[in-house]
Amino acid sequence: MVLAAQANAGSPAVPAQARGVLAANDGWGSAGAGTTGGSAADDAHVIVVRTRDELAAAVAGSTPKIVLVAGTIDANEGRSCTDYADPEYNLQAYLTAYDPATWGRVAPTGPLEDARVRSAKNQGLKVKIDVGANTTIYGLRNARIKGGDLLLTNVNNVIIRNVAFEDAYDCFPAWTPTDGATGNWNSLYDSVSLSGATNVWLDHNSFTDGANQDVNQPIYLARPYQVHDGSSDIIKGSDYVTVSYNNYFEHDKTMLIGSTNTPGVDVGKLRVTLHHNRFADVGQRVPRVRFGQVDVYNNYYYATDEDTFVYAIGVGVQSQVYAENNFVLRSADTPLNAFVYNWGGTQMTEKGTLARVGTGPVVAVNLLNEYNAAFDPDIATDAGWTPALRASLDATADVPGIVTRNAGPGKLPA
Ligand code: CA
Ligand code: CA
Repeated sequence: MVLAAQANAGSPAVPAQARGVLAANDGWGSAGAGTTGGSAADDAHVIVVRTRDELAAAVAGSTPKIVLVAGTIDANEGRSCTDYADPEYNLQAYLTAYDPATWGRVAPTGPLEDARVRSAKNQGLKVKIDVGANTTIYGLRNARIKGGDLLLTNVNNVIIRNVAFEDAYDCFPAWTPTDGATGNWNSLYDSVSLSGATNVWLDHNSFTDGANQDVNQPIYLARPYQVHDGSSDIIKGSDYVTVSYNNYFEHDKTMLIGSTNTPGVDVGKLRVTLHHNRFADVGQRVPRVRFGQVDVYNNYYYATDEDTFVYAIGVGVQSQVYAENNFVLRSADTPLNAFVYNWGGTQMTEKGTLARVGTGPVVAVNLLNEYNAAFDPDIATDAGWTPALRASLDATADVPGIVTRNAGPGKLPA
């Protein structure tokens, strides 16, 4: 700690957990080379960060390093969307120019779209933060990263723990007229983006839009002006990932695992384990999976807001989701047949689920059978593999208590 202590006079003590590594057999993240993050850091590479630029500098490069986040880091550094806007950009003019009624249902082109792209680039230079290999990012007490998108691009061996991520909003959503039946607004940023990343552990973090939820955004071109993308997306051949004891809440597109139906780098990859996470009043993609063998066990799905709930587990092309011993708390208006959704997949294992409505009785359910009974084509009931890498498998009835006591930041021993 010599240099770090010099550079950070008065810094808090380094929690022992900040040197932690993912245990053997704890999910897909423990496969291959395992996930040790920056645990091999020498004292000079244990670094406390308090600002956006300190964070970006500390996480760069592949030297083993432990980056301790202190307080709230605002990736936008107080800038407003107006501050990023190109002089040629004007939202009202954009809406008028690309209204499908006059522009048609083709992608925007021309000066206003070019100005939007330039504006988005201005914001991206601030909010996107590239994380290098062999890194642990660990939140000190009440650490928060607001508005940032940590990019894990073609890197290996990264641990992110005990951080509260909030509101990675995009000031300049793109109008995509061919997305869905009526077009959609799409945004660029997640809080954490894995792209070609191998051996990653996301643990005891929280992810939320805070006071800036998409459900409260205006309607433009007859569609919600959605300013967020994922919470933690895992795409482009990422592999060996464990996502444990995180608290996801009040966000729409939660976790995309695989971003394209086209077979390519994702085939045989995208192996992810999700366990003991709380998914509370999130909209969809919990997760949405293509290609990967994804183990979803002992998670607490808390779906009490039927106005924002879309679906939970998305069964996509060539996906092999194995869901076991998850607990569902739901509102009476969120039907059991809405938790699984078929995005072009063919198989899934689903077992051990318990569900309840409010404080009503806890009942054994099968979310896949509920889906198949209500919709066609059916999804076959065998994912075609059996997870071997699990830290533990708790009884479903114990999941709400275990997850509530342990998930999210501030729950690890100091
Ligand atoms: Ca994304
Ligand atoms: Ca059916």
